[in-house]
Amino acid sequence: MRVVITGGAGFLGSHLTDRFLADGHRVVGVDNFITGSADNVAHLAGRADYEFIEQDVSIPFDVDGDVDGVLHFASPASPIDYLELPIETLKVGSYGTHNSLELARAKGARFFLASTSEVYGDPEVHPQPETYWGHVNSVGPRSVYDEAKRYAEAVTMAYRRTCGVDTRIVRIFNTYGPRMRPNDGRVVSNFIVQALRGEPMTVYGNGLQTRSFCYVSDLIEGIYRLFHSDRDEPTNIGNPVEFTMLELAEAVIKVIGGNASVEYRPLPIDDPRQRQPDITIARATLGWEPLVPLAEGLVRTTDYFRGVVGGR
Ligand code: NAD
Ligand code: UDP
Repeated sequence: MRVVITGGAGFLGSHLTDRFLADGHRVVGVDNFITGSADNVAHLAGRADYEFIEQDVSIPFDVDGDVDGVLHFASPASPIDYLELPIETLKVGSYGTHNSLELARAKGARFFLASTSEVYGDPEVHPQPETYWGHVNSVGPRSVYDEAKRYAEAVTMAYRRTCGVDTRIVRIFNTYGPRMRPNDGRVVSNFIVQALRGEPMTVYGNGLQTRSFCYVSDLIEGIYRLFHSDRDEPTNIGNPVEFTMLELAEAVIKVIGGNASVEYRPLPIDDPRQRQPDITIARATLGWEPLVPLAEGLVRTTDYFRGVVGGR
């Protein structure tokens, strides 16, 4: 197969690229580097099975030749990124999704949307099954991301229903691992980089809000299986083991050691209080299960960040 991956120079897009290439497929990465980096795909330079196009996908774009799959991963994803890039985030979720769907339609390719647990907002149902419609503040600062992704799901389903495009939608829950930026702003990279530098870990609010963290290799395996499956309804992929942010800080201290401390900062507006994926459907339809526990994923991620920022 030859697949196009938008956001291919990002954290997840670059790992997904590696996964397709490892299985003998060809990949065309498309990215404008707004939050990604050429470093993430530098190891692929010169390969005959890999092409890269520097392109803003919010502007209509084309790819020469046959394409079997279009995987739309382009979007700022860290809260600090989408709060700084609100219009770009809304555009890539709307125009970018539309343009990627048009490419899939023109090529007769399968379309795969990277959606998010943020479509559930600050959830009132816990854990969150795919049937939950969500609880999103449509005018709050986070809405630029949440509503862009909700729109992206809607336009994907509309193309499936009315244009016959073969579509898949994954709802990704908090994922971490190598190739996150040291200044990415998400909690796992923040805590690890802060602890490596001997700085206090910044806990927002009282630290009792929860997230469920998935190691990147588990997520990519789930996405890869979903892409190749017949499951055309939105599907949660994430690790259901739930932690408070204070528990996460303790887990990071265990890995890095030293006398790391925490420093409390204000809770961002509309920060979801709890989050845990219900992965009953992924287990049953994809035979997929996360395999890497947090303690092990933190060790691997810390090794990566030690190479990037140094530290203890
Ligand atoms: P990332 O910021 O590392 O990667 C996003 C990539 O998209 C970057 O390389 C960026 O330059 C590119 N991009 C953004 N706008 C673009 C545009 N208009 N044109 C071309 N390229 C553009 O983030 P990530 O964590 O790898 O997230 C990838 C996707 O997965 C996003 O769609 C995100 O919403 C989704 N997602 C990620 C997580 C997670 O925990 N990492 C959770 C839920 C959903
Ligand atoms: N968070 C934190 N300290 C940080 C960064 C984030 O306590 O340095 C909190 C944040 O308020 C949220 C959780 O960690 O409750 C996860 O934040 P992240 O930005 O990683 O992802 P998201 O909010 O999108 O789930």
